[in-house]
Amino acid sequence: MIKFLDLKYQYSTISEEINEAIQAVINKTAFIGGEEIKKFENDFATFQNATYCIGMANGTDALEIAIEALDFPKGSEIIVPANSFIASTEAVTRMGHKVVFCDCNRHNYTIDIESLKKAVTPNTKAIIAVHLYGHPCDMGSILEIANEYGLKVIEDCAQAHAAEFRGKRIGALGDIGTFSFYPGKNLGAYGDAGAITTNNEELAVKCRMIANHGRLEKYNHLFEGRNSRLDNIQAAVLNVKLKYLEDWTRQRIKIADFYLEQLRDCNDIVLPRREEWARQVYHLFVIRTENRDELAKFLKENDINTGIHYPIALPKLAAYAYLNKAKEPFFANESDTKLLSLPIGEHLTLEDSSEVVNAIKKFYA
Ligand SMILES: *Cc1c(COP(=O)(O)O)cnc(C)c1O
Repeated sequence: MIKFLDLKYQYSTISEEINEAIQAVINKTAFIGGEEIKKFENDFATFQNATYCIGMANGTDALEIAIEALDFPKGSEIIVPANSFIASTEAVTRMGHKVVFCDCNRHNYTIDIESLKKAVTPNTKAIIAVHLYGHPCDMGSILEIANEYGLKVIEDCAQAHAAEFRGKRIGALGDIGTFSFYPGKNLGAYGDAGAITTNNEELAVKCRMIANHGRLEKYNHLFEGRNSRLDNIQAAVLNVKLKYLEDWTRQRIKIADFYLEQLRDCNDIVLPRREEWARQVYHLFVIRTENRDELAKFLKENDINTGIHYPIALPKLAAYAYLNKAKEPFFANESDTKLLSLPIGEHLTLEDSSEVVNAIKKFYA
């Protein structure tokens, strides 16, 4: 059986360290605030090459808090790509702003630059650059557009820990970056967790305060914030796993390279393109095919699990019917019936991926 995600296997390789780390927090009963969270914030900032990292309760909160900290006038337009997880747009609306969709690129699936340019209006205040599937957005072009129109750039890095644009880690290339450590992400906690990264000290302080009831010290509240802290048990788990993230990322890339090489001549499949400027960390390996449902069924019958990211493009969700963009001629709106995510992750060996390749070739033979 080739699993899409295998957290049990991952745990079996690090269980002693994880158990010890969790037990240490319990022994101290220091559940909120403490050394583990400080260590994680320091180490993760270094890992992503950002000056500041602030732990958050989850990736969706991180997006909301990033937007809140940027303090746009209510009703501002924020541009979000049409292919993403709903959190990317949800945060915009929840913070009192207006979602404006732009298309995604048909080769690497991140924000389409031409479509982005067309979406800018005098009321646009920010761009949410989602490094989708682990492929970095074209940050050079995005920052150029942001500069030209005076827009802020929020990087949604939930799927892209350790990804790089032109040799630079993502997360602090724009104004602010948001991460998720949902268990299934490339770096996952044992529950919900997230973080914000930035090089801007003022934003860093503001985000930390918003996530901690508008205070920096106990009972001295300078404004009304909320509670969205990363807790110490999750931080302890993340401290253990962060040490392995680079190795796990390399294994993902190795499997992706194998798929790219082995499926190169399969004309029925469109492979994801890795741009020459990208370190793509393959949170997902997404192919495109006209026979998506049949192929997924065939693979399932051969004990190979796949996924779909995402089965309904954001503009077509009931949640966004009010925007009337379901029929917009976006590539994202027509490709959602063709996308298929192949199994990828550090739990797989090259033999496993070879089985996947053979099954796909058999299906198309
Ligand atoms: C997972 C994810 C999020 C949300 O993260 P949570 O920690 O689950 O709240 C946001 N954006 C993208 C692109 C994601 O994949």
